[in-house]
Amino acid sequence: SVVVPAFNEASSLHQFLVALTAALAKLTDRWEVIVVDDGSTDATPQVLQPWLQQAGVRALRLSRNFGKEAALTAGLDHAEGDVVVLMDADGQHPVQMLAPMLDAWREGADMVGTVRQSRKDESLLKRAGTRLFYRLTNAGSPVPIPEGAGDFRLMDRRVVEALQALPERNRFMKGLYAWVGFETRFLPYTPTPRSAGRSRFSLRRLLRLAFTGLTAFSNFPLRVWSGLGALIALLALACLADVHAQTAQTYPSKPIRFIVPYAPGGSTSQVARLVAAKLTESWGQQVLVDNRGGANTVIGTDA
Ligand code: UDP
Ligand code: MG
Repeated sequence: SVVVPAFNEASSLHQFLVALTAALAKLTDRWEVIVVDDGSTDATPQVLQPWLQQAGVRALRLSRNFGKEAALTAGLDHAEGDVVVLMDADGQHPVQMLAPMLDAWREGADMVGTVRQSRKDESLLKRAGTRLFYRLTNAGSPVPIPEGAGDFRLMDRRVVEALQALPERNRFMKGLYAWVGFETRFLPYTPTPRSAGRSRFSLRRLLRLAFTGLTAFSNFPLRVWSGLGALIALLALACLADVHAQTAQTYPSKPIRFIVPYAPGGSTSQVARLVAAKLTESWGQQVLVDNRGGANTVIGTDA
């Protein structure tokens, strides 16, 4: 089975399917191609229509654009082959790679990934971003995600079943391939330039994907937020100490008044009151809370 996610690929799809079906027919007489139309808004469905007459070609249409990860997952769920290959619809994944990938599988590999030889076709910014993403995600991770290895890969049915068993909803496929384990071999390849159209991954989409990957496959963000939390707590303590020192000098006998912004439900003022009570106790000086405050929180004293 070859699973082909396609989002607005009307200009490339036909040419790719011609090359793909010819290559498959040479390799085996039992093949299927599953094109997953990821909610295309161009003529992709019309391009696909005549292909559905051809034995072996099937299509799924997602009800809207869900993104490549979801399209791949849907395709995997419908693939019936003992071996499943994932390929882009834009012709960037050369069909000539299918033979060596199958050979590697016959030699015993459960998964055959491909590693792009060069990223020269990509902008400097994209390359730097990619490098940073892998650095962050793989930092201290027991299951590193191999850099440069993308979705172009072959999987034994066992691997497909392992992937399907994962309960992840917001799926980051590159991480999941690594996560399920199995004996994986990597073959180098040089991506062909996109036959038509342009990359569907805008900077925004790539960032969103990177965020999904980062939060799902690394506890780095957790550590960042814990660190930031500790830092803010320390800063707050330092500020309090400072307020204390200043008020002790200038206003020795006046109560200290905290003005807190009004919060619905009064949660802010309740917390503030609690803090005030504690401070009164420990400073030996009256601390008041004033929640008439407007938008700005002011920590100050009664002059
Ligand atoms: N794709 C998809 N859904 C999307 C975006 C992309 O199914 O929301 C498909 C797209 O049609 C192509 C593959 O994913 O077959 C890779 O996309 P693209 O070529 O735009 O990415 P790049 O090669 O720049 O990584
Ligand atoms: Mg592409």
